[in-house]
This record gives sequence, C-alpha cells and structure tokens, in this order.
Amino acid sequence: MAKIRSSNLGYPRIGKKREWKKALEKFWSGESTEAELLKETKKIRLEGLRKQQEKGIDLIPVGDFSLYDQVLDTSVMFGIVPKRFQNNGGKTSLETYFSIARGTKDAVASEMTKWFNTNYHYIVPEFDDAKPFLAENRLLTFYKEAKEELGIEGKPVILGPITFLKLGKGYKQAEFPQLLQAFLPLYIQVLQELQEAGVNWVQIDEPIFVTDLSQKDLLEIKQAYEAIAKAVPEIKIILQTYFESISSYEYIVNLPVAGVGIDFVHGDSLNDLCEYGFPKDKVLAAGVIDGRNVWRQDLESKLGLVETIGQLVDKDRLIIQPSCSLLHAPVTKKTETTLDPIIKDALSFADEKLEEIVLIVKGVQNGKESIADKLEESKRAIEVLNNSKYRTKTAGQMNADALNADRELPFAKRISIQKEILGLPLLPTTTIGSLPQTTEVRKQRLKWRKGDLSDREYEQYIENEIEKWIRIQEEIGIDVLVHGEFERTDMVEFFGEKLNGFLVTKFGWVQSYGSRCVKPPLIFGEVSFDKPMTVKESVYAQSLTSKRVKGMLTGPITMLNWSFVRDDIPRVDVLNQIAVALRKEVEELERNDIKIIQVDEPALREGLPLKRDKWDEYLNEAVHAFKLSTASVENSTQIHTHMCYSSFGDIFHAISGLDADVISIETSRSHGELITTFEENTYDKEIGLGVYDIHSPRIPGKKEVTENIKRALKTIPANRFWINPDCGLKTRQEPETIAALKIMVEAAKEVRNAQLYVQN
Ligand code: GLN
Ligand code: ZN
Repeated sequence: MAKIRSSNLGYPRIGKKREWKKALEKFWSGESTEAELLKETKKIRLEGLRKQQEKGIDLIPVGDFSLYDQVLDTSVMFGIVPKRFQNNGGKTSLETYFSIARGTKDAVASEMTKWFNTNYHYIVPEFDDAKPFLAENRLLTFYKEAKEELGIEGKPVILGPITFLKLGKGYKQAEFPQLLQAFLPLYIQVLQELQEAGVNWVQIDEPIFVTDLSQKDLLEIKQAYEAIAKAVPEIKIILQTYFESISSYEYIVNLPVAGVGIDFVHGDSLNDLCEYGFPKDKVLAAGVIDGRNVWRQDLESKLGLVETIGQLVDKDRLIIQPSCSLLHAPVTKKTETTLDPIIKDALSFADEKLEEIVLIVKGVQNGKESIADKLEESKRAIEVLNNSKYRTKTAGQMNADALNADRELPFAKRISIQKEILGLPLLPTTTIGSLPQTTEVRKQRLKWRKGDLSDREYEQYIENEIEKWIRIQEEIGIDVLVHGEFERTDMVEFFGEKLNGFLVTKFGWVQSYGSRCVKPPLIFGEVSFDKPMTVKESVYAQSLTSKRVKGMLTGPITMLNWSFVRDDIPRVDVLNQIAVALRKEVEELERNDIKIIQVDEPALREGLPLKRDKWDEYLNEAVHAFKLSTASVENSTQIHTHMCYSSFGDIFHAISGLDADVISIETSRSHGELITTFEENTYDKEIGLGVYDIHSPRIPGKKEVTENIKRALKTIPANRFWINPDCGLKTRQEPETIAALKIMVEAAKEVRNAQLYVQN
C-alpha cells in the first residue's frame, strides 16, 4: 500500500528549559569559550533531532537550528556581512556573526523585524553593494552531522531566494532581478553539493508566496525555480509556504519542483485545492496541525481533512506535517507539572504535535481503527475542557454586543472639558509608563515568588519604588506622571495572571529574538474581570502627588496577539471578552479618580493579516475592541494609547478610529516618514511623538530633542502636541533615564517659553 510520510518543518532551538539561551548568554558575557558554546548547543540540537527520530517522523529537518536566527544564517552563508562588520571574506567568524545581530561599541547592529505575522524577529539582511559568495554550506554540515551522529537521513531546510531577498534591504525594487541572478548560482551550488552527498529531500522555505505578488515577481520566481530544477534533478525540492494560503495558487503549485508545502490551518488552502486541483506529478506536503498554537487537535476531524485532501492527491504523494516550523511553539508540555489536568490534557506543544502528526499518518495509512484509542483520547480531552467550568459563561459576564462602544461626546467637544479639568501646560510632558526595572526590582520579585518575601514586604518594596520615582518625576518637572510598572514582569503576562480565562505556564517559552524568549499566556477559557488589577499602584502613586498620575493598561488587541488563544471559538469573540474585562478595569480606575488612562496597543500593527483583502475585517474588529475597553468613561476622563512604531500610513484610518484622546508613538528613528504621514492625512486628536530613542543608553542632547520637537510642530499644532520618549523605560538604567528625562523636560520648556511654534 502507498506510504504516506510524516514530516516536520523545524524544531524549537531553545531547549526544554531554555538551555540554549543560557549557553548563549554565558558565552556573550565571557563566562564560556566558543568551544563550550558549540558543544552545549550541539547537545541541544542533537536532542531535538533524536526526539523527532524517536517519535517516528520520516522527514526530519536539518539546518533549521540556529545560534541566533535563520535569516542571519542565510546571510552569512552567502557572505552577506554589512561593511561595518566586514571580515576577511571567508567564513564569517562567530564573533562577527553575533556582532551583526547585537552590534558592537563601534558599529550598530543590523535592524531586526517581525517574521511575517509572528512575534519572532529576524535580522534584516543588508544587500547594499552585495557581492555574495558561498562562504559555507551549512546545510551540508548539518546534514552530515545528523547522519553521522544519529543515522538520520535529514531533510535540509534553506530559506528560499525569493523570500530571503524580499526580506532584505539595501537595493531598489528594480534591482531585484539582478540580485536574484547573483544569488541563484550560489543556491544551486549549495543544492548541488547536497545532491552529491546523497541528499534526497530539501525544504526550501518561501513564505513570501502567501503574500500578494506581482506578475513580474511571478515570472522571476518561475525562471529561478526552472534554473534550480535543472541544476539538481536528483533532489526532491519541497517549496514550503506557511502562515496563510498561497497567493497565485495555480501558478505556484505548477512550478517545476517535486513538492509544495501548504498550510491547511490558516487561510483557505482547502478551497484552492478543491477549486484548482493539484498537479498529478507532485508531492503535497499538507500542514494540518497548527504549528503556532498550543492546543490539542481533534484527530478525528484532522483525519477527515486528510481524507478530503487524499481524494485529490494520491496518498503516496502526500506528506503530513505541522502548518509551520515548531519554532513558534513551546517545546513540551511534560514540564508543566502544576497545571490542572483538565487543561494540561488539552494541550499540545511541539513534541506532542509531532505525536499527533505520526498518529494522523498511521490513521490514514492503516485505518481509523488502528488508532481508535488515541482518537478517543483526543476527543475526550477536548470535550472535558469544553464542558468544564472554564468555558462556561459566568453570570456576571457582560455581553459585548450589549455595550456601547462610543464615547458620549465627540473628541472636539470632550477635549475642552478635559483640558479644563486637567489644567496641563501647552506641550505637556509625560513618559510611556514603565521606569527602569533594575536587577534589584527583579530580585525582590523573585524572592516574593519563591516565598522568601511576604506579600506585604513585596508590596512595601514596590511602594517604595513608586514613591522614589514620583519624587524624581516631580523634581524633573514632568507634567503627567506614571507609577512605573515595577510590579509587572511583562505587559501581557501581568494581566494574564489576573484575568479569568488566562493562565501562565512554567516553561512555555518561545524564541522572540536572539536569546530572548517570551512566555505567551494561554487563553484557555472564558475571559472575564476578576478583581482590580492596577488600581492599587495607580491610586498609591496618585496619593503622593498633586500632579496627575496616568493609569496604565495593556489593550485587548495586544493581549490577544501576544497570547496563545483557545481555538474552539472565533478569535474575535475572545478579543471582545478581553475588551469587556478591561473595560471594567478602566471603570475601576476612573472610579478611583484616575483621570488619565493609557491603554497600550503595541501589537496592533503586527497583527495585520498577511493578505491585504483581510485587513479591513481585522482592523474593524480591533478598533471596535479598543473602543469597547475605553468608551464607557466620562467625557472628562482622558484616554491615551501607545504604539511602538510610526509606520502606519496604511492603517491611519484605524488609528484615528480608536478615538483615543491622545496617542503616543515611537518616532525618533523615523521622523521623516511620520511627518509625511501626518501631512498626507488629517489627524484631529492629540499626539505625543517620541522625541528620543530609548533603545540605547545614549543620553540625547538638548538641541537634538528641541529640533525633534520643532520639526514635528511644523505639521502638528502645538495645542495638540505632547512630549514623551519613544517607548517605556524599563530596559534602561536609572541614571541615564533621569538624565535623558531632564533633557526632555528642558527642551519642552525651551520650546514653550521661546514660543518656538506656530500659534494656533
Ligand atoms: N506601558 C508600557 C511600557 O512603558 C508600553 C510598552 C510597549 O509599548 N511595548 O513599558
Ligand atoms: Zn512602545
């Protein structure tokens, strides 16, 4: 009988308990040698391979492991090292590799940015004057390693040329064809060497194929893959896409490759398949298990999905796999020893997902009966959670549809009421919320978590920090103060620990960038407000000063986008539940006389769907949820929001639609772009532009800050302008923060006093 294969696209590199992170950081701090780092990371890599082998995965990816980022790996493989780090032209040293990612004292790091719609960040390749050459065939190295160490006939994974080039910068669009021509021979060389080594399958990742591509792009793509196919006739190439269905489906699946990998979890791939079919001579690698979520799948329905696919594709040309690399999922649920079994049973992290894949293959191959007990088990686990108290609406839960999502008065009217009550000067100064989280703050929290500090002692410590910083802010002369967020580890986790329906795991880490991992909370049940989450600290801070203290919350869209979300109801329903819960918190703050409340939405933009035609729906839902959280306040209460980017020309309408009285945005690294946005669009509400960059310890000069303010005031009227840093200050040290804020306030005063703005 025809054999269906199981496959994986990539395995988490961070280790079960973030051993990878620890190894890297030890090396960076000089506590270990390069040899020790390589030894430790090899151990982690081999363990991942061994696990995939033990679970019975047929096509195990090799070369997906990285010491930092797979895009950076691709860059250095082809000798793409920015000039400021230039080495001697051969293989890039490990030191240079990390310098590109992290910068040195003489050279700034390469930019990093989000990998498609995930929270993983890649290092942006810099192609300026690129003279690529094959510095090292890392795939060959990893292929051999897996074979020699474990007898694995691995499937090398390489980032495809189209996606690699499109994600980079330093060239004009018109130069794309030439650049591609420069890289193609190198890709071919890599593949030829693999072919010679006897490699059977290669996975070429081209996630860019799920985004909208032009006719010209498609032509380039076709020529490139024709050249590749011709050069390595013995290698079976799987063109791998993920995160959405393929755009230009018919065109892409007919490229001259052995197989195409398609995501059947996100987007409408099944529709495409039914409508346009699939080439008879190709392998379909079907991503049927969600690689980006943590929930167990109902295997029976997955079997059904594969059966449907199997009616259009012969089973011997079918590969079953996760929807994307498991890089985006935590390693194993085994280490979660304190979870309620009702929840734990319904979970599936990377290791468990691989088991699901193997089971599906078995079920299709040998019939449902062969895995009857497992089908039953997965069905039951899901049912038990679904029928549990966690997923039953509570009596007190408000129905989002029944709530008004509009402020009583329009902005133009309510702002004058606010101005009168708040009595702030022209060009008011404020910060984004968090103040330096020193090692001491983290140490105290750890002690409290371990039980070495009583609740009261910890609270006292936090209060002291708040008081210290209220005094500092007063002294500096800031107009709207913050309490400093000392009680929060993370802006999502903090609320995740307090809202009903969320939980925080022990080891559910995923890589965010470099060694930095995040632990997204799990939204496992009905989300609702339990008790006030931020009131105590805000009220305490306000009690210390006659200046206004701004309340501080994380908004519904960011809470959703930075969590693992239950998959049994539509995401928008979860979003609205969060919005309603936050609305209660906003009301609590207001009731306690906090008259300025900031609801942060740094994740709004990154949640944009990969396909443009889905933007409107997403943005409408996002705007509605934000308004649900904030609209019930009095006209006199001022709602702020904050976003960590300024490139929102294309979502300007939605930003304005949030109807926040004040928005603060990161600007200092992109002034030009932002000003153009505001020139081209009318924004009628108040704006705070980041007047200095908080991502480095550098203290800005007063002249520079004044110039930044003056420049913005050419486009934005002074009576609607706020002055603040780019983002929260939690990663900064105390002395540099105080110095920078002093400069900021002095600059604001200078502009105010000298009336360096057009009066409106
Ligand atoms: N209020 C948060 C802080 O200041 C906002 C963080 C963010 O925008 N990512 O840290
Ligand atoms: Zn920010």
